[in-house]
Amino acid sequence: MFECPFCGRRLGTIKNHFPVCKKMDSGDVDPVVFGYECLYGVDFEFFQREYVGAQKGLKTLVRECGVPYKVLRFLVESYGLLRDVGDAVRLQNEKNKEYFLSEYGVENPFQIPEVVSRIRDKRDVQRAQEEARRTLQLRYGVDNPFQIPEVKDRIQNDEQLKSKRARGQRRAFARKTQKDWDERSEKTRQTNKDRYGVDNPFQIPRVVEKNHADEAMGKRRKTMERIGLWKSDEERSDYERYVSEVRKHTRKNRKRVFVGWDGLCFYERCTLVTNEEFVKTHPGESPARNPMRPTIDHKVSVIRGFKTGISAERIGGIGNLCVCSQRVNSQKNYRNMVEFMEVIGHVEG
Ligand SMILES: [Zn+2]
Repeated sequence: MFECPFCGRRLGTIKNHFPVCKKMDSGDVDPVVFGYECLYGVDFEFFQREYVGAQKGLKTLVRECGVPYKVLRFLVESYGLLRDVGDAVRLQNEKNKEYFLSEYGVENPFQIPEVVSRIRDKRDVQRAQEEARRTLQLRYGVDNPFQIPEVKDRIQNDEQLKSKRARGQRRAFARKTQKDWDERSEKTRQTNKDRYGVDNPFQIPRVVEKNHADEAMGKRRKTMERIGLWKSDEERSDYERYVSEVRKHTRKNRKRVFVGWDGLCFYERCTLVTNEEFVKTHPGESPARNPMRPTIDHKVSVIRGFKTGISAERIGGIGNLCVCSQRVNSQKNYRNMVEFMEVIGHVEG
């Protein structure tokens, strides 16, 4: 809303009003120019001084005196003072130079080290993105992974499943928790009352509490011994030490196993599928679901080595390593676990 400085009428747009304002007498000056000068309190002298003399830009003047950019530009143009583009650019460049010199001590932002490294980082990211796009285009003929039909379907299914299941689970959990809580607190209260004659567990003397905990621990251990899950500390730590020793040697030798590898599973003699190939033939699936991925295996198992006293260095040595499929490896691992139970004497072997 503007108020006309001559007749006082309040108007949404004022430019069209000035030429028809009954109270305005602009003489031989363009009524719009005269109107704006009066409305914002600027005149030819002002522009001579600030725009031409001090070489300020229009945007600077907007900031300094709050006159809208369009009005400033209209007035400057009307006075015939508007700089041509070349002059404006040169002026701006000079100002930038001044600014960078005073702020950073250089004439050009490309001389500021942080700016240079930021630009480089940005280029690296761009290059990586382009690379990824090219790969997608080559493999699936799309620009965006979400355009791959399998990926699209999977995401949609996952989302639906997740939201439906999560809602149900949340509700069920809330109901169950409340019920459990009610039952448990009632039971606890009753137990405390019966055993210690108090309502609240904090009223039980500490010593009573501790004895009770020890007793529970003993009970748990007896149960574990009975079902064959208890391992003594010696049994556990000896084997664990051996395993980590074997791992160390295996890590050292794993690269050499793949040198001259024929691409087949050592046990089944079938062709293995690298994760890279798997991703190509199973778009959108995680390589973790690739049962035929090559893995390193110990021909004489770690547990057998431990049992028969073979050194960890030999078990993790290149002569004992081979490449087999993940499927075979996990079967072997299962057998090894059974053997482990035999070793520590809890399963009749
Ligand atoms: Zn008016």
